[in-house]
Amino acid sequence: MYDVIVIGAGPAGMTAALYASRSNLSVLMIERGAPGGQMNNTAEIENYPGFDSIMGPELAMKMYEGVSKFGTKNAYGIVQDVVDHGDYKEVVTEDESYQGKTVIIATGCVHRKLGVSGEEEFAGRGVSYCAVCDGAFFRNKKLLVVGGGDSAVEEAIYLTQFASEVVIIHRRDELRAQKIIQERAFANEKISFMWDSVVEEIHGNEMVVTGAKVRNLKTNEVHEESANGIFIYVGLDPLSAPVKNLGVTNEAGWILTDDQMRTSVPGVYAVGDGREKTLRQITTAVGEGGIAGQQVFNFLEEHKEASQNTTN
Ligand code: FAD
Ligand code: NAP
Repeated sequence: MYDVIVIGAGPAGMTAALYASRSNLSVLMIERGAPGGQMNNTAEIENYPGFDSIMGPELAMKMYEGVSKFGTKNAYGIVQDVVDHGDYKEVVTEDESYQGKTVIIATGCVHRKLGVSGEEEFAGRGVSYCAVCDGAFFRNKKLLVVGGGDSAVEEAIYLTQFASEVVIIHRRDELRAQKIIQERAFANEKISFMWDSVVEEIHGNEMVVTGAKVRNLKTNEVHEESANGIFIYVGLDPLSAPVKNLGVTNEAGWILTDDQMRTSVPGVYAVGDGREKTLRQITTAVGEGGIAGQQVFNFLEEHKEASQNTTN
């Protein structure tokens, strides 16, 4: 029986584990991949205080080293269900079951698919969701980037160090990305924009992507845009399926908490990108992790006192 089980080792989960283990609680952190979460798919981070600029995987490693120091135990597993037994919670992976007095859900979210033909077929053969992972395969090639948010525009800029040309295809005539990121993209000679346009099909030969069918939503004109690769950044979906049975999410699947990161189930907390909130950032994930890590300590202390009073 652990004091705390943290599900997910992104910046939110790792910070929660750091705070809880540093309070001398027994902590198990369960992760289905490499620690770091979305930071592992991020090129350069320049809005994390303390660093002018740092590569995502490097920040992930630094956080992981920090959390390991205080005795957090790690387990590999894909959590499939969390069951509330009142005094304790059961966390079920595909082949194990763990028990904890409290649980912190830090499962984050995942990139959304575009849902067009060719997307699945050419995944890994020109279709990508990760510039850091795949950008270097496209030296001197032409790339399309779909989306108009921070991810699309920032990763398009990153891709210009490899590609000969990057075309950002956005469904409106205005970007959603932060102004500072927009300005850098507008100033980058390798980047051009295709406004009011959507990708409707992704095409390729037997091996790799060769282009996409693009429709202009204002004129309804359709044309074939040639490209060697297509990077898709059209938003995020919560990874909250494992806690569906707890009834702590809204209709879209985002987890609801109060400002102390408490869900409606006593002893179950949620932190990071999987929460219903407005700013999904490493700084906010880390802040929420700190709050939840401290909250579980308070929760367990209160319950210890309550059970001592009952015994007396
Ligand atoms: P995540 O980082 O998503 O981590 C969640 C973890 O939970 C993952 O490791 C996942 O494998 C694990 N997990 C999920 N489900 C399960 C399960 N069922 N069982 C076990 N483990 C599970 N933010 C910034 O502040 N600055 C930036 O420059 C920046 N750039 C970005 C660039 C891109 C391309 C993207 C996609 C995001 C960027 N962000 C940036 C956002 C930032 O990465 C996120 O806000 C942050 O990582 C959220 O942290 P998290 O811990 O909540 O979730
Ligand atoms: P996002 O902000 O939700 O943006 C998604 C983009 O994709 C929007 O421009 C949207 O268009 C477009 N889109 C959505 N569905 C589409 C579809 N079916 N077809 C075509 N286009 C579609 O997602 P994100 O850019 O991945 O960012 C996610 C979170 O991470 C945000 O909170 C962001 O701030 C954060 N982040 C931060 C940084 C940073 O701080 N440097 C970097 C990356 C990400 P509309 O604009 O028309 O809705």
